[in-house]
Amino acid sequence: MEYFPLFFDLKNKPVLIVGGGEIATRKARLLRRANAIVDVVAEEIDGELVELIRASGGKLYQASYSASHIDKHVLVIAATDIENVNARVSADCQVRQIPVNVVDSPGLCTVITPAIVDRSPIIVAVSSGGDAPVLARMLKSQLERSLPGAYGKLARFAAKYRDKVKAALPDIDTRRRFWEATLAGDVAEQVMADNVELAEKNFNLRLAAGDADRGGEVYLVGAGPGDPDLLTFKALRLMQQAEVVLYDRLVTPAILDMVRKDAEFVYVGKRRSEHAVPQQQINQMLCDYALAGNRVLRLKGGDPFIFGRGAEEIELLAENGIPFQVVPGVTAAAGCASYAGIPLTHRDYSQSVRFITGHVKDGVLDFRWKEFVEDSQTLVFYMGLTGLPQICSQLIAHGKSPATPAALVERGTQPDQRVHIGTLSNLAKIVEERDVHAPTLLIIGGVVSLHKTLKWYKT
Ligand code: SAH
Repeated sequence: MEYFPLFFDLKNKPVLIVGGGEIATRKARLLRRANAIVDVVAEEIDGELVELIRASGGKLYQASYSASHIDKHVLVIAATDIENVNARVSADCQVRQIPVNVVDSPGLCTVITPAIVDRSPIIVAVSSGGDAPVLARMLKSQLERSLPGAYGKLARFAAKYRDKVKAALPDIDTRRRFWEATLAGDVAEQVMADNVELAEKNFNLRLAAGDADRGGEVYLVGAGPGDPDLLTFKALRLMQQAEVVLYDRLVTPAILDMVRKDAEFVYVGKRRSEHAVPQQQINQMLCDYALAGNRVLRLKGGDPFIFGRGAEEIELLAENGIPFQVVPGVTAAAGCASYAGIPLTHRDYSQSVRFITGHVKDGVLDFRWKEFVEDSQTLVFYMGLTGLPQICSQLIAHGKSPATPAALVERGTQPDQRVHIGTLSNLAKIVEERDVHAPTLLIIGGVVSLHKTLKWYKT
């Protein structure tokens, strides 16, 4: 190990920065987060830096650097662009055995600063010992993505109960197991979702019982339209925690691949007019799996609350007092539109957008068509493939121009996405001539004409 990692308590301790430019300001900002007193010596000084010094209760020496400035500081940072000043600062500190960091000159440092992921009080520090700072920063961004933003809340929750748990569970192994189960289970999720009341109730119940056995919980998660890169961080985290997964046809294999491998996978449909498992039964299954103590993932295409029957699925959970969370996903309209180069709204074409279900019931589509005729809106039909000819002809019959641009996006955001472009008068025919498969999304309105300019997809 080239360097020994330490975390430095700088609260109300004086730190000296030599230099007054942008880099000095960046360092001062960071030091302020640790509540250090920031003193600065520089001939010229950045406006924001003056403010940071003032806020920290520090002093500004508008002067050229001399060794006397160093005295009484617990840490010195040299951030000037003059090499011999930086070298002098380093030498002066080393004589006095004061830790010194010279920005971008590892050879002059006795301490180096890591790349950090800040989920205070959790802090992750990454260092390459000055050899490959870019690599360290890349690693930092990987960690940034994998550590939930709410980990800080979780750590504070644990801090609050630390003594109580220690008193209740004196045996160190029992205590460790209790914390491991608690920090990865439903209580943790409830804390991170800001449902502290429920978290505390469950936590105390389990502590009183002397075990950390989880109660069940359901995560209703939007998986987006197909491209796994469109998953949210939260979706991914819950996908990797669940023990049971109920998924339907819209969830692509690439996304299922990201679910915890040893989870139990349950396919519950549904293709159009072929409901593998009736809705009521799905609702009941969610309840049953959760009541048996499982963390249950209900993975749905797009967003669970947009034509997803998400509300029905959680109603029964709520009735049974089963904790649940709903995680939004990128809905097909947003995903397909972006990946097809069609903005859903545009100052010149469309001031509103409607999401409509094009599901044909008993052979008819029952709409107030007149509302759809207004030109300054975009119409998006979900489940509109079968009804496509009827939708187009009805819109024309009710007064919308036959020349209105229309697009059918097939398997939007997926590797085999296709975009079929036409107008109200010819799109149905175009689609009929091509071998088109669900899922498809129909977008109608002036905005569709922009796809030519914004196009970056395959047709
Ligand atoms: N909750 C989902 C919609 C479920 S309804 C969401 O928010 O996206 C199912 C319909 O969504 C399909 O019939 C289709 O119209 C649309 N859809 C979902 N994924 C799609 C995709 N990748 N490409 C095109 N349409 C899609």
